[in-house]
Amino acid sequence: TASDGNKKISRVRVAVRLRPYLDKEDEKGEGPCVRGLDKQNLEIVNWRNATETVKYHFDAFHGPKTTQQEVFLSSVKPILSHVLNGQNASVFAYGPTGAGKTHTMLGSAEKPGVIPRAVREVFNLVNARDEDEGWDYSISMSYLEIYNEKVLDLLSPNSQDLPIRQDKDRNIFIPGLTSTTISSFSDFDTHFVPASLNRTTASTKLNQRSSRSHAILLIKVVRTSRVLPHRQQTGKLYLVDLAGSEDNRRTGNQGIRLKESGAINLSLFTLSKDSLGGSAHSVMIANIAPEYKYYFDTFSALNFAAKSKMI
Ligand code: ADP
Ligand code: MG
Repeated sequence: TASDGNKKISRVRVAVRLRPYLDKEDEKGEGPCVRGLDKQNLEIVNWRNATETVKYHFDAFHGPKTTQQEVFLSSVKPILSHVLNGQNASVFAYGPTGAGKTHTMLGSAEKPGVIPRAVREVFNLVNARDEDEGWDYSISMSYLEIYNEKVLDLLSPNSQDLPIRQDKDRNIFIPGLTSTTISSFSDFDTHFVPASLNRTTASTKLNQRSSRSHAILLIKVVRTSRVLPHRQQTGKLYLVDLAGSEDNRRTGNQGIRLKESGAINLSLFTLSKDSLGGSAHSVMIANIAPEYKYYFDTFSALNFAAKSKMI
């Protein structure tokens, strides 16, 4: 975060995570089209001339051996304390389908990702706060999916799609969206796990819907001063598993799908007004894959990620 006079400029921190090969056989073939150079730099084969590479510099580069814990500690943990102080923060997983967004955000039981780690940490931070600071904290969650411009409430799966509105202070809000108070990590898990299954189930039914929708978990931390006039501050943490960044024209997804990919970008823009800029603390984790079949998607994801540093 840089300071420009009184105006605070928040920059998006951009990390790139290159997942490992999933299949040992593939690895023996052409080798990766992209490789890390050090903790901030990587290179990709130049498509114009395969003997050359194009180099990129990011805030962080996480190579194929990076653990979930390392990604969390380096890219996510540092922004969480702001949420307790009434500021907004967000983590976006970006990149082509199959590159590791859901692995990074959700992970598995054995390798939990950013979401469970971040929520656990928010509760740890609140519980570690000094009583003498004089605030009472209340934490709630909302969980939604944006698919084809429609907002779906994952905590209330039978609800209609919801409108996105902006209040007079230009804050984004979604009337009717379920907000559930949670008092511990296990309380969170009780609501989150079945809601995540709602999304997963829908995706197999509706032809890879998860690759074309954003899943957004919102953790809201409201703190109230114990002394009159009981001042309140709200910090919002957005944890977002974005729709696949692949170019639908190139992958041959014409017609309705092409319209969807435009819609995805539009709804993302709406969301980004609230979670980017201002006094927000944002991290984008651009997920990429080593295989040559992802080459053009990797290339364009890296270019998008490089541009995002300038938001
Ligand atoms: P996306 O959500 O971007 O479509 P996924 O997270 O579903 O991609 O990842 C695709 C596959 O790769 C999954 O089987 C996932 O478990 C695996 N994978 C992704 N990232 C990693 C990683 N860093 N280490 C091991 N396996 C990974
Ligand atoms: Mg996914």
